[in-house]
Amino acid sequence: MIPSVLPTYSRAPLHFVKGEGSWLVDTDGRRYLDLGSGIAVNALGHANPKLVEVLTTQAQNLWHVSNLYEIPQQQALADTLVDNTFADTVFFTNSGTESCELAIKMARKYFADAGQPDRVEIITFDGSFHGRSSAGIAAAGTPKMVGGFGPTLPGFVHLAFGDLDGVTNAITEHTAAVLIEPIQGEGGIRVLPDAELKLLREICDEAGILLILDEVQCGVGRTGKLFAHEWAGITPDIMMVAKGIGGGFPLGAVLATEKAASGMTAGTHGSTYGGNPLGCAVGNAVMEEVSKPEFLAEVNRKSSLLRQKLEGLVAAHPDIFDEVRGSGLMLGLKCVVPNIDMVQAGYDASVITIPAAENVIRLLPALNLTDEDIAEAFNRLDAAANQVETTIKAA
Ligand SMILES: *Cc1c(COP(=O)(O)O)cnc(C)c1O
Repeated sequence: MIPSVLPTYSRAPLHFVKGEGSWLVDTDGRRYLDLGSGIAVNALGHANPKLVEVLTTQAQNLWHVSNLYEIPQQQALADTLVDNTFADTVFFTNSGTESCELAIKMARKYFADAGQPDRVEIITFDGSFHGRSSAGIAAAGTPKMVGGFGPTLPGFVHLAFGDLDGVTNAITEHTAAVLIEPIQGEGGIRVLPDAELKLLREICDEAGILLILDEVQCGVGRTGKLFAHEWAGITPDIMMVAKGIGGGFPLGAVLATEKAASGMTAGTHGSTYGGNPLGCAVGNAVMEEVSKPEFLAEVNRKSSLLRQKLEGLVAAHPDIFDEVRGSGLMLGLKCVVPNIDMVQAGYDASVITIPAAENVIRLLPALNLTDEDIAEAFNRLDAAANQVETTIKAA
């Protein structure tokens, strides 16, 4: 019999009832160090007092009104994002997937309005993840994602991650944009080097096509800059955001330049929930914290500290781990043993990590985790690795 919850996830038998900073508490009162943050969502930790206050205050006044009316919280969040980024304009969504939809529509509409309606192709990369909508899975293009779901939305060209020669060769009179994650999350914490992102920007400029960055996972302070592309000193034309920006409230955004967004006039796009007062009140509180230079400096300091610990872990357990990868607090441990074994051993050692492709476990902690949390992260991952080693020896 099919479970009452559609069984699209294979779930670990963990039942959390409370969260506090970087910690989760289960029904038995056992405390787990959460290095996954709901997949890079709880950027300021669980039950952050400031976010709780903002959310409850807003909830007592007004949860939702339609985008048919002015929404001051949305206006304020858009202004903050415009002031702090390359963007001239912002559309709010409820998820990364919804942001992906608009990013693709926006790029195609731009060229349609520019008298080039045949420029519809988007160049994307192997190992990418852009959400589970028909456009999102077509953009990623893996058989695992598109198989069985009928005709795949056309107009995507797939290349190996970082194949910039391939990009140059793939650009034709039908190309509208390149869509890439500066750091692949689901793909296994694969970082596109800054120099390559810079070169990609140049290739797009030369060809007169748009650069769309998917910063759903790597954005909002995760890498120690407000957005990951800032490290490369370039700006995109369109950027997808979600996950961290709501701190746990479902909120996403598409940021764009005036030029790239020029086709999106009244009636061309919409969202019932996107940018509602409750979501944007929380988003404003997240942005206020995360955009502070001293907050980002702390992310960088903690990143160095955690990374140093992880390098030590890899050195101590060469039969378990291969390498540390990533940037900021978006880190991965490439495993020698099956990554799932490490994730499972982590549960036993009361530490939460998240598996990714390329046999990697992801560490996406709250951006405000403490130095003690980092020390605990090492202790617990070390204990988990010891457990896996014991199991191997016994076998
Ligand atoms: C999670 C993710 C998405 C999809 O976001 P949802 O909120 O799950 O729809 C898209 N792109 C990237 C890079 C992601 O990590």
